[in-house]
Amino acid sequence: MDKKITYNAWYFAAALAGILLLQSVIAGFAGTRAISYSEFQQLLRNHKVEAVAVSDRFISGTLKEPLSTGEQRFTTTRVDENFADELGKYDVKVSGQIESTFLRDLLSWVVPVLLFVGIWFFIIRKMAAGGGLGGGLMAIGKSKAKVYVETDTGVTFADVAGVDEAKEELQEVVDFLQNPEHYGRLGGRMPKGVLLVGPPGTGKTLIAKAVAGEAKVPFFSISGSEFVEMFVGVGAARVRDLFEQARKHAPAIIFIDELDAMGRSRMPGLTGGGNDEKEQTLNQLLVELDGFDTKSGVVLLAATNRPEILDPALLRAGRFDRQVLVDRPDKMGRAQILAVHLKKIKLDPDVKPEQVAALTPGFTGADLANLVNEAALLATRRDAMAVAMTDFNNAIERIVAGLEKRNRLINAREREIVAFHEMGHVLVAMALPGSDPVHKVSIIPRGTGALGYTIQRPTEDRFLVTREELESRMAVLLGGRAAEWVVFQHLSTGASDDLRRVTDIARSMVVQYGMSPDLGPVTYERDQRTMLGGMAMPAERAYADTTASTIDREVQDLAQQAFDRAVGVLNERRAQLDATAAKLLESETLDTAQIAAIIAQVPVSA
Ligand code: ADP
Ligand code: MG
Ligand code: ZN
Repeated sequence: MDKKITYNAWYFAAALAGILLLQSVIAGFAGTRAISYSEFQQLLRNHKVEAVAVSDRFISGTLKEPLSTGEQRFTTTRVDENFADELGKYDVKVSGQIESTFLRDLLSWVVPVLLFVGIWFFIIRKMAAGGGLGGGLMAIGKSKAKVYVETDTGVTFADVAGVDEAKEELQEVVDFLQNPEHYGRLGGRMPKGVLLVGPPGTGKTLIAKAVAGEAKVPFFSISGSEFVEMFVGVGAARVRDLFEQARKHAPAIIFIDELDAMGRSRMPGLTGGGNDEKEQTLNQLLVELDGFDTKSGVVLLAATNRPEILDPALLRAGRFDRQVLVDRPDKMGRAQILAVHLKKIKLDPDVKPEQVAALTPGFTGADLANLVNEAALLATRRDAMAVAMTDFNNAIERIVAGLEKRNRLINAREREIVAFHEMGHVLVAMALPGSDPVHKVSIIPRGTGALGYTIQRPTEDRFLVTREELESRMAVLLGGRAAEWVVFQHLSTGASDDLRRVTDIARSMVVQYGMSPDLGPVTYERDQRTMLGGMAMPAERAYADTTASTIDREVQDLAQQAFDRAVGVLNERRAQLDATAAKLLESETLDTAQIAAIIAQVPVSA
């Protein structure tokens, strides 16, 4: 859009300048000067006038010798109705009609206009011939967003650090691009689209480029946000164009950055209005996704930091059916990322990447790149020979202040609470029978809400769950809150999601599964999930008020029992809780084996 406005402004300025120039040339050639009637009378009386032509309203004529300003011709307004006598007196030749100015007007206005229309057409023709890509600027009638194509991105996996899992998954895409025929040998099919999901600055764009760089294929990229302001139809044309170009250059990668900007969920009932363009673009993308064959050797990558708002149609099988998580790095990941960026600066030997990594919890790859740059600038400012640890400390202080304002970092005290909270979940899960084993625990903030997280993997698919298992599940969910209670004797808001899930379980036990002794084996609520236009209908209540209060009390009892149980478990294992939480604070993530190793050394107090 910006571009277009600028172009138009230039055309306009050029046209104006041209018109003014031509007019002055024509006027100068004619050598005519507009004078007042009294001046004319003066000239007449001084015998300076050679000849005049008179119309109803104007007089024009020639002089015997040029005026002081150089012109020999003049025009003036006719004031005196009858001045023919006077003219005769001074021996001036008179012709009745003034000469026509039509031709002059034509020349001074029409010629420049024609000229610029001509130039305009010439430029458009040239651009159209150049095509969307090679032509550069724009292709009228085709599309206006830029497709960036890099034949060699110059980025490899070595430039991307700390996201080993994502790299491993994408290695497959690299292998495929390097050898598409070989890949389909056993009938296997590449996923059509791979969606990179992760918070901003974690290196999604970078890793997409690295895939192209590793496979040595051209990288066609476009950002979803560029589609937002386009005219209806242009976005769709652009998408078609993008795929067409990539297919021509296959094997190739198409990368759609910020997919959420264009793949935002289409809201039913809210169509029309300003949504048409986005919908058309999205529909075109879906059409292209469905239409393209992975055998063509084109792989589609996209990135988003808000997968939850994407239109579900995009995530269906055969579209973006594989998601790769690009998460914030833990301490070791940060050290590796720092190692990549520290190579670019002159470093004092006293700076250790591990040390800097320890000081920067919550930083993303982009934050770390920024940090290295800031430190280098600070060192330059103090005329140092190399970047020292003090520069890093100062730079960290600055950046942390900024990130805290944007709510992306949690402070030391909060980190401690989160560590105990998460370890609470873990220890309760390990102590209670029938809980899913803990796979990984982390205090690196993930997504928007959760401050830390514990991943439990179910050992097997389950369809039937016993009462005991549900009770254990609730105790594990409350383990976080219980740990806060045991260690700090206070409660925080960090457990609200846990509480919601506990309440859901307890309530289902009472009203759906008939597990409350007081209420008996009776279901009090039918399936609540009667969806009508995406809205849950409030369930009809088919029981007395007294029953309602019994249900509430039973739900409370179940939750309270689970909480007490969790507190009991943690009191017994207080030493283990302290030891593991300290370790978690230090390394930010722990897996099953690491937790087991610590616990093995700390006895359970009876
Ligand atoms: P995203 O697309 O996820 O928002 P970018 O790929 O644009 O993040 O990252 C911005 C910059 O941050 C990169 O150009 C790179 O310098 C740095 N960076 C981010 N993540 C990493 C990483 N994992 N390894 C090395 N550098 C990184
Ligand atoms: Mg990006
Ligand atoms: Zn929790």
